[in-house]
Amino acid sequence: MDLGLRGRKAIVCAASKGLGRGCAEALAAEGVDLVINARTEDTLVRTAEEIAARCGVSVTPVACDITTEAGRARVLEACPEPDILVNNAGGPPPGDFRDWDRDDWIAALDANMLTPILLIKSVVDGMIERRFGRVVNITSAAVKAPIPILGLSNGARAGLTGFVAGLARETVRHNVTINGLLPGPFDTDRLRNTMAARAEKEGRPVEEVLREAGASNPSGRVGTPAEFGHACAFLCSAHSGFMTGQNLLVDGGAFPGTL
Ligand code: NAD
Repeated sequence: MDLGLRGRKAIVCAASKGLGRGCAEALAAEGVDLVINARTEDTLVRTAEEIAARCGVSVTPVACDITTEAGRARVLEACPEPDILVNNAGGPPPGDFRDWDRDDWIAALDANMLTPILLIKSVVDGMIERRFGRVVNITSAAVKAPIPILGLSNGARAGLTGFVAGLARETVRHNVTINGLLPGPFDTDRLRNTMAARAEKEGRPVEEVLREAGASNPSGRVGTPAEFGHACAFLCSAHSGFMTGQNLLVDGGAFPGTL
């Protein structure tokens, strides 16, 4: 299936590794020129070079913290008129809400609610004028089934999801869609670091602990960033203009609801 995206321009945030990189790779494979962002310059530049060499598209790396105003300005300067925006940033730390103060909440809201909203604000009117826009917010399966120790994530991402639910119904008549993509467990550095800590504590190989984590999922495994990227590319495609305001789980069937 040709997704009809050749020659389009995308901003993919937090994309040197993991799910963001999966999305960047899938879009590049469809002929989309990219501006990708992450904080660590050498990893980001390497990722940009690898994707550009493999897919023959232009990939511009912008090393900065996307949760800061200055960082967002630099990314937008590199791509002022994107057709596609993939919002992503690191997730907040786990913990007990009794230990979190106002600053912890503000940091979570900044990263996982306000940053995507401010980026959407910067690009959505241009998308409306050009009559094409695709925004995908990488959130979490915790939006549908909250994970108690991830209270900061549950709260901030629910705020983003609620805001987008309204806006998405206003932009769709201009062929600008906004959807959430909700990852369950994926084999990324974030998951591997958590598993590595557990493996070390228990004196077991990390692959064994990772396999065990996958075994509790209906699919019997964890997902790959490439699978997540393909789902993202479909939401960004020319054919998905009638899908908006949705929150799509990519979780191997872990969420047990009928709908
Ligand atoms: P990862 O650690 O593998 O990759 C994170 C990427 O984001 C890296 O490229 C890092 O440099 C970049 N990054 C982080 N904070 C940034 C910032 N402030 N500015 C710019 N770049 C930044 O993580 P991942 O597993 O790909 O997770 C991506 C998002 O998905 C996170 O919000 C995470 O909480 C969420 N999520 C992941 C999973 C999973 O199983 N991997 C499950 C649910 C939700």
